[in-house]
Amino acid sequence: MADCLFCKIIAREIPASIVYEDDRIVAFNDINPQAPTHVLVLPRQHIASLGDLAEGDDAIVGEVVRRAAAIARERGIAAGGFRTVFNTNRDAGQTVFHIHLHLLGGRPMAWPPG
Ligand code: 5GP
Ligand code: ZN
Repeated sequence: MADCLFCKIIAREIPASIVYEDDRIVAFNDINPQAPTHVLVLPRQHIASLGDLAEGDDAIVGEVVRRAAAIARERGIAAGGFRTVFNTNRDAGQTVFHIHLHLLGGRPMAWPPG
């Protein structure tokens, strides 16, 4: 998608600190980290928000979630615990409309979130 920031990162038109990629998924460090680990995990396929998911997207969403758990394990934060968040639309604070799973960890997390 021409005007999508994360599509531009995926296409390497904008630099990012990429921590994982394969033919379906890309993961990179958030530019404004909210925890010692703050990685965004996303499909290469442009899907604007969870509201735009189709039945055929189940597999890619599952892969994104499983990849976030794998990155947490690799970083040694899985046993202690980590948080995964999809922000959707205005009230949740979604600012980039290409679905991305926030993987946050490396410090205790409060609940409920702000
Ligand atoms: P959202 O608010 O849509 O759930 O999350 C968007 C995230 O993307 C934010 O945490 C923000 O810090 C991050 N972000 C915004 N622009 C860039 C960028 O150019 N590079 C990277 N790596 N992260 C970005
Ligand atoms: Zn996109």
